Amino acid sequence: MKIQMVDLRGQYLKIKEDINAGIQECIDNTAFINGPAVKEFQYDFEKYLGVKHVIPCANGTDALQIAMMALNLQPGDEIICPAFTYVATAEVIGLLGLKPVMVDVNKDTFDIQLEGLEKYLTPNTKAIVPVHLYGQSADMEQILKFAEKHNLFVIEDNAQAIGSDYTFSDGTVKKTGTIGHIGCTSFFPSKNLGCYGDGGALMTNDDDLAFKIRMIANHGQEKKYYHKVLGCNSRLDTIQAAVLKVKLKHLDEYSASRNRMADYYDANLAGISEIQTPKRAANSTHVFHQYTLRVKNGKRDGLQKYLAEKNIPSMIYYPLPLYKQEAFVQYVKEGFSLPVTEQLCKEVISLPVHTEFDHEVLDIIITEIKNYFN
Ligand SMILES: *Cc1c(COP(=O)(O)O)cnc(C)c1O
Repeated sequence: MKIQMVDLRGQYLKIKEDINAGIQECIDNTAFINGPAVKEFQYDFEKYLGVKHVIPCANGTDALQIAMMALNLQPGDEIICPAFTYVATAEVIGLLGLKPVMVDVNKDTFDIQLEGLEKYLTPNTKAIVPVHLYGQSADMEQILKFAEKHNLFVIEDNAQAIGSDYTFSDGTVKKTGTIGHIGCTSFFPSKNLGCYGDGGALMTNDDDLAFKIRMIANHGQEKKYYHKVLGCNSRLDTIQAAVLKVKLKHLDEYSASRNRMADYYDANLAGISEIQTPKRAANSTHVFHQYTLRVKNGKRDGLQKYLAEKNIPSMIYYPLPLYKQEAFVQYVKEGFSLPVTEQLCKEVISLPVHTEFDHEVLDIIITEIKNYFN
């Protein structure tokens, strides 16, 4: 038995009939582009999220790019984003000629740090991109307040937290990705709601923005062969929509399974003093896209090496701060450094977590982690 970081095969076997039937239907009616499953999934997803508009697209990176295009951000505009995130968040900012302003994150919850954020504001600051990293929401109530006060757009990068609930102080509960002006997500196979290839979507409650997003994702055309604005070609394949339609029905059950795994890790790793198990954010549920430990005293790399020797996979998300990546040094002054991001890049390690809960496998992983620290 080979331990998987993400057990996509085990998951597939349980829903095989529905998935196969959905894919076969696409092939039978050869509606590969914009076939019926795309709209059906869109409606199901809108209902699930409680959002007015879902606009499917080709991948999560495109979703972020289209969001920034739809908000009419112009070259030179500055966009605040965390330095501790997947490259896509900041990449599209740079690609559009905008300036990524990389800021620090919170040590325990890994989300964007709001304290001291004012010092990054300039007259060119136009938007903020909170990332719901590893599966729980950034502090959206405070982010909305900050954004409103400084007249910024809020684009949620929800590629890792689909299905997560954020609770406002007045008790209102909203799904992540539906709280800011635009939410973006990815259906990359290993994401919590993943298809069998690439896929993504944008979410918004704003009718005008939804209209613009649809147009941009479709070559900037409102009417076929009449192009109003520069757009791109970013569609969700019908076959991928068919897969997502099936998997969406299981999403809450999948999140529960991930939580069971996380709770089991928590309970069994709690006694190890050199490990910090993931803290749950106060106002968010967690969907554990990643189960991420912080390993203290410089022992992270040793732990990963030890686990690899025992055939236990683990991942470092992310080993290098964005501002130290060659592609991004152009956006910061020499020597720029954010203390928490630096620390996390040295301390974090993500363990296998997925939808196929298996005590035996978890016990093997936990035993080896304990062995390493003894
Ligand atoms: C996966 C991911 C993306 C990009 O999604 P793709 O579908 O791979 O383009 C963007 N942001 C974050 C935080 C991600 O984890």
